[in-house]
Amino acid sequence: MVVRMRRNRSQTAKRRSHHAISGVQTAKCGCGALRRPHRACPECGTYNGRVVVDMVARAKRDSRRTSRKQKELRESGQAVEKEKETAKA
Ligand SMILES: [Zn+2]
Repeated sequence: MVVRMRRNRSQTAKRRSHHAISGVQTAKCGCGALRRPHRACPECGTYNGRVVVDMVARAKRDSRRTSRKQKELRESGQAVEKEKETAKA
């Protein structure tokens, strides 16, 4: 790098003074929950006044997936070992 391009500490610090990450912005949903702006509400699944995510179906799907996963773990014998560990503690 040529001398002309060199930056001193002050110039580097001045450039980096704009690099800080700001906090997460929140907006209030119609249902009263806090949500990120320009995103569907995680509580009721609405965006811009209309339902875009079926939260009941999502809850059913999640419970089905977790129960299936736990069943698989039980059959493979991994969950049993975990239960023993928790019993010891
Ligand atoms: Zn909501």
